[in-house]
Amino acid sequence: MIIPPDESTAFEQVTSLFDWTARHLGLDEGLCEILRTPWRELTVAVPVRLDNGQVKTYTGYRIQYNGARGPYKGGVRYHPAADIDEVRALAALMTWKTALVDVPYGGAKGGVQVNPRDLSESELNRLTRRYVQSIAHLIGERRDIPAPDLGTNAQTMAWMMDAYGAMNGHTPGIVTGKPLELGGSLGRDAATGRGAVYVLESLLEDRKPKTDRVKVAIQGFGNVATWVLRLLSPDRFDVVAVSDSRGGIYNSAGLGVDALFAHRQEAGTVTGFAGADSITNEELIELPCDILVPAAIENVITQANAAKVKAGIVVEAANHPVTPSADAILSDRGVLTLPDILANAGGVIVSYFEWAQNVQQFRVDEDRVNTELTRTITTAYEAVRDRAAAEGLTFRQAAFAVAVARVARATELRGFV
Ligand code: NAD
Repeated sequence: MIIPPDESTAFEQVTSLFDWTARHLGLDEGLCEILRTPWRELTVAVPVRLDNGQVKTYTGYRIQYNGARGPYKGGVRYHPAADIDEVRALAALMTWKTALVDVPYGGAKGGVQVNPRDLSESELNRLTRRYVQSIAHLIGERRDIPAPDLGTNAQTMAWMMDAYGAMNGHTPGIVTGKPLELGGSLGRDAATGRGAVYVLESLLEDRKPKTDRVKVAIQGFGNVATWVLRLLSPDRFDVVAVSDSRGGIYNSAGLGVDALFAHRQEAGTVTGFAGADSITNEELIELPCDILVPAAIENVITQANAAKVKAGIVVEAANHPVTPSADAILSDRGVLTLPDILANAGGVIVSYFEWAQNVQQFRVDEDRVNTELTRTITTAYEAVRDRAAAEGLTFRQAAFAVAVARVARATELRGFV
């Protein structure tokens, strides 16, 4: 595999994995070009009247990477770094993720280059409506279904649904990750963290750890990280570290989870928690532990620190937390990485259940959602494990092999090649 340097763009890094996979699968070059090229990219200006009366214009994107397997699906990120290259890379990852877990969608992503913490609630509401007006001709319940991502949440989805509904009539299936009161699904909030925990537990069934107790370090304290923390059984796992954008905390004997949530509620950050030492986000990556769960942002394990990772297993709850050069170093050292397109796919799986409930105007209970989530993500895990074993691949290579083969086959069947 040709490994792009850490300085290369996010899309170049994701494409390098695709190129490796295409060669491994022996795909025809014409077909590869279709799969390597985003199908539709829209850049929009998003002007917003601020509360002080001034107008500020942000740049937004919606990128539909590949729709061979169904309507496009992917979150919308509000972040200053969400430029066209990052959104394109995330749209490609969504294509491979939906294929790997076999939900009937293509892949897309959206973004607005804004720091949501700089805007008031009413400014964010206006920004979201303007963004939806600008992309409304591309999205649709059967065309492209947005969802939350970094910097957006259930409230953002409610505004999106309302703005789209004002133009097209009430359409709850236009977005997923909505509040329950507006047609959201039970179990969606926890789904990404729950999926990551299921995949990890399946791996630990196959590769029994040497000790009874397993030490886990989690980077992040947002939606995904907090659900991983809540769902790891205290009978077996000691979460020794967590962090947020302000820094991290560490206690080698394990963190008191209830006290930690109470502290975070009070202080608005995990830092300063009395039951632990302060660490940096960089130190968290290198802590002595069995399992490392990056669950915040991308590119946190790089060529510079991959050799210092002490965990034996890395669970990519975040998208693209490990650069390709770091991935090579980790696998050479025998560190097993559960790749993002598998480990964090619980969110899109339950988004699919939410959408299916919306289009059928029917609601199922949380047990049913969690049972279907377990079945779907475990099936994907087993496909990856078996392919890795059969072909001598890493879990990431195997996940891409399964996913790219499915999208390639759908593309061929549609008659594009
Ligand atoms: P979130 O906004 O709820 O939480 C993000 C967390 O990261 C926060 O605790 C924040 O303080 C922390 N953070 C921000 N900048 C940081 C930095 N520089 N260093 C360390 N920590 C930092 O986001 P989320 O929904 O939990 O998403 C986390 C990751 O999981 C993202 O990569 C996202 O794309 C991915 N993901 C999320 C979902 C989902 O359903 N929410 C699904 C699939 C993948």
